[in-house]
Amino acid sequence: MKKYILIVLVATVLFSCKKEVKEKSGNEKLKIVTTTSQITDLVKALAGDKVALEGLMGAGVDPHLYKASEGDVTKFYNADAIFYSGLHLEGKLEDVFEKMRHQGKKTIAVSDAISKTDLISSADFASSYDPHFWFSVTEWKKVTKYIADELSKLDTKNAIVYTDNAKRYIEKLTVLEKSNEAQLEALPVEKRILVTAHDAFAYFGKVYDFQVVSLQGLSTATEAGVQDVQRISSFIIEHNIKAVFIESSVPVRTVEALQAAVKAKNHEVEIGGTLYSDALGNPGTVEGTYIGMYEYNMKTIVNALK
Ligand SMILES: [Zn+2]
Repeated sequence: MKKYILIVLVATVLFSCKKEVKEKSGNEKLKIVTTTSQITDLVKALAGDKVALEGLMGAGVDPHLYKASEGDVTKFYNADAIFYSGLHLEGKLEDVFEKMRHQGKKTIAVSDAISKTDLISSADFASSYDPHFWFSVTEWKKVTKYIADELSKLDTKNAIVYTDNAKRYIEKLTVLEKSNEAQLEALPVEKRILVTAHDAFAYFGKVYDFQVVSLQGLSTATEAGVQDVQRISSFIIEHNIKAVFIESSVPVRTVEALQAAVKAKNHEVEIGGTLYSDALGNPGTVEGTYIGMYEYNMKTIVNALK
């Protein structure tokens, strides 16, 4: 019912929007709304102060469960373009964005930058693909170029700025890839087993040769069951895994239940730290940027498992 009301609201707002002709003066900035903190950070890196940027989801916010408020709908209405992740990551927003797109609002799923063959398919997820692609730095480079191209089309007078910034940012991502490889030298392949709260790290696992095990599925909307906890606790003991990880955007209780289940079987497993999965850290901190988040996660994983 709530969703219905929201869609009606969106439709009404867009209808009234179509009636007025929006003319931008030469100095007026492009108004951009972004969903996840990863995308907000990237648009900030590419556009700097050339756009007026409004990021919806802050640190610790879970995109799978995020619902648009009335205030958000006003932000969508005022925006020249909305960048979102897509592939049903924002499970409760995607219908709204689809509807807006049909009504002429510029809504851009950044996952469109990636060809389907480079995505990890997942039969039981709504989009049929794993939406956590930002953990492949290679794919994030494609997203970088895609966003820069879209910004350039929307704001041609600053196109050179977006293109240059994208070039520089992609170079930084290459440096990140090298530093990831260097950090991983301390962790032999047999120790590369990553146990986390929800299934956000499959792309990470694919790139860096980790077996990834999680309590919840690709979305946090489904809670872990007692059987999952029992099965994974046995797996931890069997593989002599030193540490499991909590995630900043997922409640800690499932991982604590897992730790307790291991203890009940007379074994110990540490909590290796908090990983940033579907949201970055606080703005202004190192983990508040995509690159800082990735370095932090890598350091946390290697230190806890080596
Ligand atoms: Zn997720």
